[in-house]
Amino acid sequence: MANPRSKDPAKNQASQKFSGGAASPAKPVKSAEPAMSPAPAVPKPANEIKPAATRAVSPIPPKLEPAKSAAEINPAAGINPLADALRSAVVKHRIEATPAAGANPVAEVKPVTISAPAFPKPAVETKPAVAPTAAKSTAAPLPSKLESVQSVAASPSSRPTPVAGEAKPTPPKIGTPAGAIASVPPAVVTAKAPIAPVKPEPVVSPMLVTVVAPSKKNEPSQKPLTPKPLTPPVPPISEQAVVEEIPKLKKTEPEPGEPKPSLEVAPPPPPAIPSMFVVMIASELTPVAKVGGLADVVYGLARELETRGNAVEIILPKYDCMRYDHIYGLTKAYENLWVPWYGGGINTTVYFGFVHGRKCYFIEPHSNDNFFNRKCFYGQNDDVLRFAFFCRAALEFMLKTNKHPEIIHCHDWQTALVPVLLYEMYQHLGMRHSRVCFTVHNFKHQGVTGDHVLRGTGLNRPEYFLHYDRLRDNHNPHAINLMKGGMVYSNFVNTVSPRHAWEAKDGGQAHGLEPTLNTHQHKFGGILNGLDYEQFNPQTDPHIPTKYSADTIEKKYENKQALRRRFLLADNAKPIISFVGRLDPQKGLELVRHAIFYALGHGAQFVLLGSSPDASINEHFLGLKRHFNDNPDCHLEIAYNEEAAHLIYAGADMIVVPSRYEPCGLTQIIAMAFGTVPVVRAVGGLADTVFDKDFSNRPLHERNGYVFETADNPGLESALQRAIACYYQFPEHFRQLLLNGMRGDHSWNHPAQHYLNIYDFIRDK
Ligand code: ADP
Repeated sequence: MANPRSKDPAKNQASQKFSGGAASPAKPVKSAEPAMSPAPAVPKPANEIKPAATRAVSPIPPKLEPAKSAAEINPAAGINPLADALRSAVVKHRIEATPAAGANPVAEVKPVTISAPAFPKPAVETKPAVAPTAAKSTAAPLPSKLESVQSVAASPSSRPTPVAGEAKPTPPKIGTPAGAIASVPPAVVTAKAPIAPVKPEPVVSPMLVTVVAPSKKNEPSQKPLTPKPLTPPVPPISEQAVVEEIPKLKKTEPEPGEPKPSLEVAPPPPPAIPSMFVVMIASELTPVAKVGGLADVVYGLARELETRGNAVEIILPKYDCMRYDHIYGLTKAYENLWVPWYGGGINTTVYFGFVHGRKCYFIEPHSNDNFFNRKCFYGQNDDVLRFAFFCRAALEFMLKTNKHPEIIHCHDWQTALVPVLLYEMYQHLGMRHSRVCFTVHNFKHQGVTGDHVLRGTGLNRPEYFLHYDRLRDNHNPHAINLMKGGMVYSNFVNTVSPRHAWEAKDGGQAHGLEPTLNTHQHKFGGILNGLDYEQFNPQTDPHIPTKYSADTIEKKYENKQALRRRFLLADNAKPIISFVGRLDPQKGLELVRHAIFYALGHGAQFVLLGSSPDASINEHFLGLKRHFNDNPDCHLEIAYNEEAAHLIYAGADMIVVPSRYEPCGLTQIIAMAFGTVPVVRAVGGLADTVFDKDFSNRPLHERNGYVFETADNPGLESALQRAIACYYQFPEHFRQLLLNGMRGDHSWNHPAQHYLNIYDFIRDK
């Protein structure tokens, strides 16, 4: 059926033609890859897996796709005449760049704290090493529980107020919460030597990727040691004395006046972690203000915490471009909130509303700055001031409304000033009991700015804050680094996967904040993001035409057909390989591009959905789109479109995620929930969630995708080749792989427990 959304009659005509036809055998389509970054002539690794014809083929018939004979599917067998005929018959003009109906027109804008080149080199960004003397400094402002544990031990009631410019020699002391992150397996992807294309992962010490627990032995004592009183020596008990004691032991009736022994069963011990009041402060929330994974995480974690009986409220900016149709009961909660700003103040209104059951407050300032009336979320020149104001307003609102959350959970640089303001200002105004957990979703965007932000927020004292141990950028002594401030002043800092925690601290992927992570490693760890199955669930997803589960996986094929109709792809026996994500250099765009050519040349179709705030990147992919305009096996959609993303997750056979770095990555997790097999690079959260079918050391039922190590074309091909070969030659194995992915538990269940353990550990008891 033709795609009713398409305005292009030629496209509709093509679609009708394809959808009516029988499945055509997969043959390679010659798609000469224009030289952009010519692939190095690297010989294929000797250990590369060839889809051996000698492998035993299971008699189980494939359920997703009809199996093809080897002659039919051999990509090297020649050009597919049917595909050729179709291609020449169809003239398609699929260069529409405007987002499809339903797309969020503003969500393409991404944070641009550091403007990225169009296709940077794949090497990991590194920054010059910081002078060792500086890195060793421990004169941090003791944010632990907003006070030094040692000071508390000496005088429980005293809360030391830091003196300007005074360096505190004792780092905040936070140990490991029992069972907190330590239970997260460090997910080592170890290759089987010598044939594995996945190189052995660096040995990940649990101490590095999880909360570092100071050993009891070395732990400095928190309380002064008081010598135990000496007990007098106990004389040996004689047999006679024992006999005399027996009647007393037999006594059943209590003496008059003596309290009767209670026959009641002892009350059950209190729950390990009491329910808590948590306020999340964030710049994104699914679905009202979504740019990327941060929005999904804030919503999913908040929901899971509430399900477990905690009280959770979320504070967001009131953007003019939010999806107001997803906010229920929006009402004014506080008027005339006077938020101090640059020595004066900004009159602010705070709104309350429910976002799919979550309690949310929205900050709306009334000033000529129009901080949140920009028709976009990020990408403005004054982003730092916009979100600095947001931090101050959120705290002012909590103070004026007497909110005293046990935990304030902040996300990314946009909210990093909250712990700074809390420690330096608001605890002295009455917010003594709140503690801060700070989650870094992406180290690349840090909010590096001038000291004017200090004057704006009322922190002032640049000589105090431009100190290496506080907010001074590690590389520019005249710049303020907001994310660093958040890390220094929070009670706990985490990133969104154990593997990325290690990569950031010891693998040079913290974009210059490695020394800060080392200084504060005792309160740093990695917690894998979860997936909100209410939002991403093939059994209930409103965006897909046919609902299905692992037990009815055959129905996934109907979504594949729908995806083909939606994107005007030919109806044939080829697998669909997909990419969904921001078109950011972080995502390995040069490899995404190569994956398109490789897939089309090896018997697969390709769909891409993504956009970038960088016009040159969009333009590049629009050029590719024009290049493949007549190709019935390829569709690139340069847009943000939530509904199309869900259809791709449900309809595609594979998703490729070749990121250069990936703090967690949600697309591969979402894809697995929909039975789409991920082909990923072994980096960050990708390595923690995807386990190679052939080379993982995991049990067979946990293997759920294909993994490659090196960020180059041969690396990508080593995984894509195996995935495509398995799809064609061992469809029953491929089916098992996607079922493994669907059956894996990627819910918020475990991650939320880790966060609760941390909350419980840092809260003011
Ligand atoms: P990041 O946080 O780096 O953007 P993640 O993989 O963690 O990447 O999360 C990406 C989220 O954004 C997923 O929910 C994905 O479906 C969604 N997404 C990304 N790009 C698009 C797009 N162009 N259209 C629709 N959804 C998108």
